[in-house]
Amino acid sequence: MDLFEYQGKEFFAEYGMPVSAGEIAFTVPEAVAAAERLGTPVMVKAQVHTGGRGKAGGVKFAADIDAVRQHAGNILGLDIKGHIVGRVWIEKASDIAEEYYASFTLDRSAKKHLGMLSVEGGVEIETVAETNPDAIAKIWIDPIDGLSEATCRDWVAAAKLPEPAVEGTVEVLLKLYRAYSEGDADLVEINPLILTPEGSVHVLDAKVTLDGNSEFRHPDYSQYDATQSRDEREQAAHAKGLQYVGLDGSVGVIANGAGLAMSTVDVVNQVGGNPANFLDIGGGANADVMAGALEVINNDPAVKAIFINIFGGITRGEEIASGILEAMKRVEIDSPIVIRLDGTNANQGRAILEPHLTDKLMMQPTMLDAARRVVELAS
Ligand code: GDP
Ligand code: MG
Repeated sequence: MDLFEYQGKEFFAEYGMPVSAGEIAFTVPEAVAAAERLGTPVMVKAQVHTGGRGKAGGVKFAADIDAVRQHAGNILGLDIKGHIVGRVWIEKASDIAEEYYASFTLDRSAKKHLGMLSVEGGVEIETVAETNPDAIAKIWIDPIDGLSEATCRDWVAAAKLPEPAVEGTVEVLLKLYRAYSEGDADLVEINPLILTPEGSVHVLDAKVTLDGNSEFRHPDYSQYDATQSRDEREQAAHAKGLQYVGLDGSVGVIANGAGLAMSTVDVVNQVGGNPANFLDIGGGANADVMAGALEVINNDPAVKAIFINIFGGITRGEEIASGILEAMKRVEIDSPIVIRLDGTNANQGRAILEPHLTDKLMMQPTMLDAARRVVELAS
């Protein structure tokens, strides 16, 4: 679950981190009223589930109320990387002496938490990693051991932060790690973490991704669930009760079982293609479910070819084959389909499909063959 910046800051504040006072606004008059209560100067900040808002014109300094009115008017409704701004965060403006970067995330291959700290904040960390990788101090933290103050101090020293920023940064990082681990986050990122001219260290931006599976431990996280932005495809699939995740590629994927669906996404990548989605239709691949899945995929304009990857288990091959044919009668499909059907009664299922095969409906004997064919068709 991705949090808006202001939600991330509220989350951080619960762990005692220094954030600026602010208010959320959905309209220009609300933004103006918020700025009047807070007192200018303020920042007017677009709240969207994506970064790089500053570059896109979504973060503006407002010296007075007129400027607040003007910026809020421009930012509300703005399209930032496909996200339309529906709310702005009005925050007391801070003076900045220096900008740093700090984050914790999970390093799955190391099976540890990864902390990153850099004196080069305010720019995208990917850019720093490319142009000046030595400017990022990394630590790997065993989740059982946690982050001790001594380790944290060594880490801050390795990042070569200037002396006046050291104490405040150590304090913020220890709290940030607590928020990350106790709050069941997958990512917490502060960019920029600032040093003010008065010498205090302060959180100016917040990017937080929480583990949705931890909601049972944090009933209050349902408030974040309610503000998740799903793209149109995901909304349509969600409404049909399908397990769907939108991706950027051109190969529509339908598989039965989450494991097989993930493998299908992998194998499409492996042969040089790009999946348009992850879609698990579950165990019973009947005509209704299959028709719903094909409809969602067919409505995605990026899809150039469709890969139906089914392994019959309890559901037998002939039921699946009939389900596919029935679904294709109900939905008019624009893209060619490649089917791989295996498992229980696969031969009977293939025999049912055989007479219907055309250059729009193909079948391949293995998952890899089918992936190669569908990627060929999509490119
Ligand atoms: P992002 O572009 O989505 O990462 O949004 P940020 O919240 O990081 O804001 C972008 C940039 O705006 C920051 O890197 C700062 O340089 C600047 N900025 C944000 N808040 C303030 C503030 O209170 N005062 C000043 N002077 N600059 C700010
Ligand atoms: Mg930022």
